[in-house]
Amino acid sequence: AKQLGGNQSQSYTPTLQSESLDDLTLETSLRYALERQELQLYYQPIVGLQNGRIVGAEALVRWHHPQQGMISPVKFIPLAEQTGLIAPIGEWVLQTACNQTKSWQSEGLPPVRVAVNLSFRQFNQVDLSERLVRILAQSGLDPSYLELELTESILVQNVELTIAKLNELKSMGVQISLDDFGTGYSSLSYLQQFPFDLLKIDRCFVQDINTNATNAALTNAIIQMAHSLNLKVIAEGVETPEELAVLYENKCDNIQGYLFSRPVKAEEFKRMLKEGKRL
Ligand code: C2E
Ligand code: CA
Ligand code: CA
Ligand code: CA
Repeated sequence: AKQLGGNQSQSYTPTLQSESLDDLTLETSLRYALERQELQLYYQPIVGLQNGRIVGAEALVRWHHPQQGMISPVKFIPLAEQTGLIAPIGEWVLQTACNQTKSWQSEGLPPVRVAVNLSFRQFNQVDLSERLVRILAQSGLDPSYLELELTESILVQNVELTIAKLNELKSMGVQISLDDFGTGYSSLSYLQQFPFDLLKIDRCFVQDINTNATNAALTNAIIQMAHSLNLKVIAEGVETPEELAVLYENKCDNIQGYLFSRPVKAEEFKRMLKEGKRL
């Protein structure tokens, strides 16, 4: 079947016969990963540069394979997309993230938002909004605390339909962010047509921003233009204090990266919230 793959890969899915044995074995075990409770959500803090406090977290799925150990989502999410397993997995991720975030709030911790990645195929599920409405209602989470991360891959489709779909999601009160910005092919002016709330600058632009003049110029330009379009900006993959300083000077809104924290288990993220960990 011809269909778009995961994040940025536009490669066409090979036929079943040419699929590697490896992938078939992995697909079989991925089928059971959910019911065997091998999937776990990690949370990576997102920090505001205004006051250095945690404003949210990105939920990142982890798969503890019984024999092969940790398998990267970079490997199994595209497989889940190709096989349709992304539907139950994506549903579980949304449910778990919303329930967890609501329970932190109920325990009296400072309220933060949770960002969930939606793959291309998930975005195109006909019943996506119904699923979301149900998950939000069941969890009791205020929709304004849920952020959906989408990549530029969704923009290759019919523009009017995509805008309508985004507006439908936004009318529920959730926030929409454009993930991995800069790795695709869309210009910021083109983006103006789409109702995004936040823009995440991809790690490759943030890297070495303090020594790499090209990256610094690009990042600065992205921040300025995003702000003129009323978008908040999150810089991804911030690893050093030097990179942070440049982002701070350029009025970036939020940062995410190993400098503050790697993705951590729910209990550890909760501890950071409780202790009021700051930049
Ligand atoms: P992403 O959405 O771009 O997620 C950010 C990735 O960057 C994460 O990798 C994170 O661990 C990593 N990262 C964060 N800070 C730093 C840093 O300072 N330096 C470096 N070198 N890396 C950093 P991870 O967790 O392996 O996820 C990879 C990709 O898998 C994600 O990229 C996302 O596209 C996909 N993914 C993960 N969880 C889900 C999910 O639940 N659903 C869907 N559809 N996709 C997911
Ligand atoms: Ca993401
Ligand atoms: Ca990203
Ligand atoms: Ca990515």
